[in-house]
Amino acid sequence: MAQSIIGDERIELFRASVHGDVVRPDDVDYDDARTVWNGMIDKYPNLLVRCRGTADVIHAVEFARENDLRVAVRGGGHNVAGTAVCDDGLVIDLSEMTGVWVDPDERKALVQGGATWADVDHETQAFGLATPGGVVSETGVAGLTLGGGIGHLRCKYGLSCDNLASVDVVTADGEYLTANKDENEDLFWGLRGGGGNFGIATGFEFDLHPVGPDVATCFVLYPGDRAADCLRAYREYTSTAPNEVSTLTSTGIMLDEELFSEDVLDDLKIGFLGCYAGPPEEGEDVLAPLRAFAEPIADFSGTVPYTEFQQMLDDDYPDGMRYYWKSLYLDGLSESAIERICYWADAAPSPLSTVDVWELGGAITAVGIDESSFAGRHAPFLLGVEANWEEPTNDDANIGWVRDCLADMRQFSDGSVYLNFPGFLEDNDELIESTFGSTYERLVAVKDEYDPTNLFSLNQNIKPTA
Ligand SMILES: Cc1cc2nc3c(=O)[nH]c(=O)nc-3n(C[C@H](O)[C@H](O)[C@H](O)COP(=O)(O)OP(=O)(O)OC[C@H]3O[C@@H](n4cnc5c(N)ncnc54)[C@H](O)[C@@H]3O)c2cc1C
Repeated sequence: MAQSIIGDERIELFRASVHGDVVRPDDVDYDDARTVWNGMIDKYPNLLVRCRGTADVIHAVEFARENDLRVAVRGGGHNVAGTAVCDDGLVIDLSEMTGVWVDPDERKALVQGGATWADVDHETQAFGLATPGGVVSETGVAGLTLGGGIGHLRCKYGLSCDNLASVDVVTADGEYLTANKDENEDLFWGLRGGGGNFGIATGFEFDLHPVGPDVATCFVLYPGDRAADCLRAYREYTSTAPNEVSTLTSTGIMLDEELFSEDVLDDLKIGFLGCYAGPPEEGEDVLAPLRAFAEPIADFSGTVPYTEFQQMLDDDYPDGMRYYWKSLYLDGLSESAIERICYWADAAPSPLSTVDVWELGGAITAVGIDESSFAGRHAPFLLGVEANWEEPTNDDANIGWVRDCLADMRQFSDGSVYLNFPGFLEDNDELIESTFGSTYERLVAVKDEYDPTNLFSLNQNIKPTA
């Protein structure tokens, strides 16, 4: 249990200065407030503030600075490393700031810093519009966008951060700034890929695109003994598919009694998931080859509402289960890379775990490498290794499997990683600089300007010079 190191009087003054709830270790909702999505994370902050608006965020930042507190910032609470919460210190929680306002004529959405993708999709789809999010709708807009944002519309419309028109930020000294192409350009550049290093984003302005209401989708599964053949066919398919198509593939047992009959439930499978960002009737034809790689075990493909597709995986990642995810950008899908993907998928200790390959390219590569701080535009594929399991006694086996897989797969990569799938925070200390490569120095310069004392350090941390 966290001990309060701040006097009661100061806390009461702080409580009076904000509209949101201030939660202390002896409050009844303390455990609820400190709980995040990943059941592996069990942190005990001194204090949490559930901000209701920008003023609360400014007061919270000032309070943290004046009392020299460690700070964690919570958006959707879905970072696998649990960076939304800390031991000791103050959690600045934006998860009640979920407002979304759409301007259908200008095709823009204003999104508060604690919204989830479900909040965004709900409002934007009322106008037949969307902006690229992630593939699970319960994930936070803030953490995902600031780290890049790889979702179902990526090859057509780019990353989430590529669709940012403007961001409102509370910096470490409590200043409220707007960052976009005309104002505070260096901050805007850093925010698009550099994570939560530079301040607390209270509002995002996104560009919107016509999508839906229905989209053609593909979700087809084949037997695991055909995985290598399917991955070869996938490599060919992705080399010619139009940008409207964004797909990923997962190999694992994917134990799910609702999806699979008993005779294949415990078998290794390979699945292909994606959608077509264009007219559904055209999309069904373009996606058809993905459904003919072999004889499917199951095929759930079809034209569905975009919001339904966006939520399709939500139930597969329940709150409180144990998760350890890491990633690696791949140079390509060579024969030996395919062989090792199949090997590691088969070696997974948990039947809920998968080895995933995300297709990149398309609109992601249309943005120049120097235009934003995001570090993964060079790669044709992203490898995601997801350990998902239930029992704490299986922690070592699952974490070890992810680490061993990553170590082996480095032979097919320049070693750079997608920092939004970070495993544990400390796993990445040495990888952050090498992943950002030539942009790292520029990120340090932005950090020096906006957070020289590293108030925002619980993230994929860019260390300031001082
Ligand atoms: C089930 C699941 C599915 C996912 N799917 C995808 C996917 O399809 N594509 C993809 O790209 N990623 C995906 N991710 C990874 C995701 O991008 C990261 O986990 C991201 O950190 C989640 O953001 P959050 O706001 O929910 O996280 P939080 O845990 O709340 O925050 C993570 C970090 O982001 C920063 N942060 C949060 N809010 C703010 C804010 N308002 N201002 C400044 N900094 C802030 C802080 O540094 C914080 O520590 C997925 C994760 C999960 C758990």
